[in-house]
Amino acid sequence: MIPVTKPYLPNRKKLDALIGEIYERNWLTNNGPLVQTLTARLEEYLGVENLLLVANGTLALQIAYHALNIHEPVDGLAPEAVTTPFSFAATASSLRWEGIKPLFADIDPQTWCLDPASIEALITPRTRALVPVHVFGNFCDVAGIQRLADRFGLKVVYDAAHCFGVKSFGKSVLNFGDAATLSFHATKIFHTIEGGAIVFKRKEDLEIAKRLINFGLSGGSKSVEPGVNAKMNEFQAAMGLCVLDEMDSNMQKRGDLWHLYHSALSSQYQLQRRTEGCTNNFGYFPMLLEDEGAVVELVENLGNDGIGIRRYFYPSLDTVECFGSDSASPESQDVARRIVCLPLYAGLEQTSVDMICQKIQKVAHPSLNMNANLGGY
Ligand SMILES: *Cc1c(COP(=O)(O)O)cnc(C)c1O
Repeated sequence: MIPVTKPYLPNRKKLDALIGEIYERNWLTNNGPLVQTLTARLEEYLGVENLLLVANGTLALQIAYHALNIHEPVDGLAPEAVTTPFSFAATASSLRWEGIKPLFADIDPQTWCLDPASIEALITPRTRALVPVHVFGNFCDVAGIQRLADRFGLKVVYDAAHCFGVKSFGKSVLNFGDAATLSFHATKIFHTIEGGAIVFKRKEDLEIAKRLINFGLSGGSKSVEPGVNAKMNEFQAAMGLCVLDEMDSNMQKRGDLWHLYHSALSSQYQLQRRTEGCTNNFGYFPMLLEDEGAVVELVENLGNDGIGIRRYFYPSLDTVECFGSDSASPESQDVARRIVCLPLYAGLEQTSVDMICQKIQKVAHPSLNMNANLGGY
């Protein structure tokens, strides 16, 4: 069996040693020493300031909306945020959960990120924010998005769940917007089992968020405002510290696999166009097939051979009834119908990637004699 992704388990001895420390201290949560160390190490590794660790990437989004007051009603009515329909469901559901209506703009058919040109028509007096996604770690048109935000007085929260370590012209992509959020779920390239982080532009917003993740309590035990419990614990931080130590070698391995896929498939399949200056953290290998029928066939065929290929992200969120969209996003619908993500994780063998590519060719061109025509693999 080859799953589409596999959680990375770091060096066990190192993890055991950190867990030993936790046992000695008997300090399990509430901004413990490992959470503090991980915060400092991540700020350094990522090249950011004002980073707050939280329990998961969905709460990271929710806390960011709250800290920036995006959830406040406008004249007694639900606020709105313009977002992308081409993302994991958490982007839209976190808005809905906070009582913010998601308005789905559309994506650029090449980069698959929110197209700023599709945003303006959706903005109303109740719109408080833009929530774009750097999808598959590809940098959004942040200049175009910021221009709209400035013109209409909107906050910008980037869902940067896929962006661990991604830079644009040498600068972390997490440094854009009023806040950017990360997910450290077990299936992401850097993980803390469950976990996430928010990177705020302003220190004041970080201080508000620190209260919000701890029941709204200020230094003492007095509630300043209603909060929630979104704290990361020491065991999560221990896992994170160990995974971080192996991050560079994992990224290297992923990169090698990614390039193998790329050289075998890029001449026949449309791949995501990476934004100029944006580095790749090799989190995913997405590609588009010619139509939905080809997707269904490939997923079924390789699934029968124990190879997990995911239709990711599908369906386009503007078509999901519970998100209550009253507009359609044709570019996103088209990409969502035709996209697949291929298996990619640090422990995947290069020979497995060769085998997967051969099987893909065989499904796409059943009449070819594989040995004669594709010996180049
Ligand atoms: C994984 C993911 C999330 C949710 O993060 P969790 O840590 O699983 O809560 C949000 N947005 C996107 C784009 C994601 O891929």
